[in-house]
Amino acid sequence: MKKHILVVPGDGIGQEVTAVGKQVLEKIAEKYGHEFTYDEALIGHVAIEATGNPLPDETLTKMRASDAVLFGAVGHPKYDNDPTAKVRPEQGLLKMRKELGLFANLRPIKLFDELLEASSIKPEILKGADILFFRELTGDIYFGEKGRKDDGDSAYDIAAYSKYEVERIARKAFEAARTRRKKLCSVDKANVLETSRLWREVVQAIAPEYPDVEVEHQFVDAAAMMLIKDPRRFDVVVTANLFGDILTDEASQIAGSMGMLASASVGESTGVYEPIHGSAHDITGKGVANPMASVLSAALLLDISFGLKEESDAIINAVDQVLKAGYRTRDIADSTTPAEQILNTEAIGQKILELI
Ligand code: NAD
Repeated sequence: MKKHILVVPGDGIGQEVTAVGKQVLEKIAEKYGHEFTYDEALIGHVAIEATGNPLPDETLTKMRASDAVLFGAVGHPKYDNDPTAKVRPEQGLLKMRKELGLFANLRPIKLFDELLEASSIKPEILKGADILFFRELTGDIYFGEKGRKDDGDSAYDIAAYSKYEVERIARKAFEAARTRRKKLCSVDKANVLETSRLWREVVQAIAPEYPDVEVEHQFVDAAAMMLIKDPRRFDVVVTANLFGDILTDEASQIAGSMGMLASASVGESTGVYEPIHGSAHDITGKGVANPMASVLSAALLLDISFGLKEESDAIINAVDQVLKAGYRTRDIADSTTPAEQILNTEAIGQKILELI
């Protein structure tokens, strides 16, 4: 298969982990006889430094022209501590999602058995947990009107959803549920928010079209509690942008670390595959970042954008084998991990490549 992949590492550890994700794609192409070509582009802080723009037009053009995007992360401490900055790395990320129409963010939360002890949740509660989140990505409070009034003493962010926006993400979630354990949990705050009442109305209206899928509705506060109390009760979860952002970070603890979780953002144009973690300034440049989220993002890319399920499974299997062999990055090591089994980003990447 011939495909063109755009690699957009972005900032901080995005650079370090995406390098490993790309190597894995190269290895797969070599092993399975595919012809993948690559290009690189800038986003985030590195793009601001080079061009003044967090999402240069050139990057967007390259994204539209490619078959898939392997993405890293954006962010820099300079902006985190300066709420008045007018140009920010995250603007690049939000604009990319809007411009490419990436309305569905899929986040599989699956615990590798070897990491049962790495989570702060008890193993007997976790074992077997396997959740697929659908986070809506181009609406809600992130994209509504925002501003200050009263000479800057008060601020507002408008949350808005249309029926169309809710329906298209809900349908994707229903369809995914059909291929899994046929359970869908729609998470909202319909007891308080009008956008959530519309959300629930739309999900209820289309549910009869999927009679084989069992649907439940949960308020976000209850869902946040249930995720930790009994994660195995969830199969597919569909929710709005802000709730999804928070719940999936919480759910990352089910998988042991942020460094283990991949995501796929799909919609109207090129799909974007990225770790759920950010640029992690606290560990940038130390070579200790866990590249597995990027590697698993490459697996999602092959499966979802190219339909290469066998190749995708080969990557997941290699990660599993590396963990079974006892190798860890620092974030997923525990007090029982021998020092020589704790590897840096590059070394654990090499182990994954060898096992592919
Ligand atoms: P973060 O995800 O970057 O880091 C949170 C914690 O998890 C840190 O302690 C970090 O060291 C650890 N961590 C994250 N990824 C890891 C990995 N692969 N291996 C080992 N440890 C890992 O979130 P943050 O610290 O809240 O934000 C840092 C910056 O990233 C901010 O500028 C934020 O705006 C940005 N951010 C970007 C994205 C994105 O690009 N999609 C997402 C979240 C945050």
